[in-house]
Amino acid sequence: MHCPFCSATDTKVIDSRLVADGDQVRRRRECLQCGERFTTYETAELVMPRIIKTDGSREPFNEDKLRSGLHRALEKRPVGMESLEAAISRIKHSLRAIGEREIRSRTLGEMVMDELKALDQVAYVRFASVYRSFQDISEFRDEIDRLEQSR
Ligand SMILES: [Zn+2]
Repeated sequence: MHCPFCSATDTKVIDSRLVADGDQVRRRRECLQCGERFTTYETAELVMPRIIKTDGSREPFNEDKLRSGLHRALEKRPVGMESLEAAISRIKHSLRAIGEREIRSRTLGEMVMDELKALDQVAYVRFASVYRSFQDISEFRDEIDRLEQSR
């Protein structure tokens, strides 16, 4: 890896040990170019929990599916790709932070709705109408009333 001080590509490991009960490898490195020393930590990438669907079946978390759901809700809305991607990474972060192997699709749905509510209220109502399968216009009205009250 590159030296953070001079960006040289040649660094050598001078010490390596397990830390955090063996969940991390701590490496002390020395740059062959400028002689500076620095430390790196290596951890396993945390896996995403599986999603428990309403019928009880399980499926792996699917980032593409999440992204296309958000795209659909945000179609023709004034929300940039960067905000969308930031919302996706916040959702992924929350999923990992829960620390469960499996979570209900409902929990994921609520996370998505929280993000949409902050991004764009039209997109939020669109998503909620599909997700909560609104039956008629009065349910739209109720949801919009709730939004207005929460402002
Ligand atoms: Zn260096």
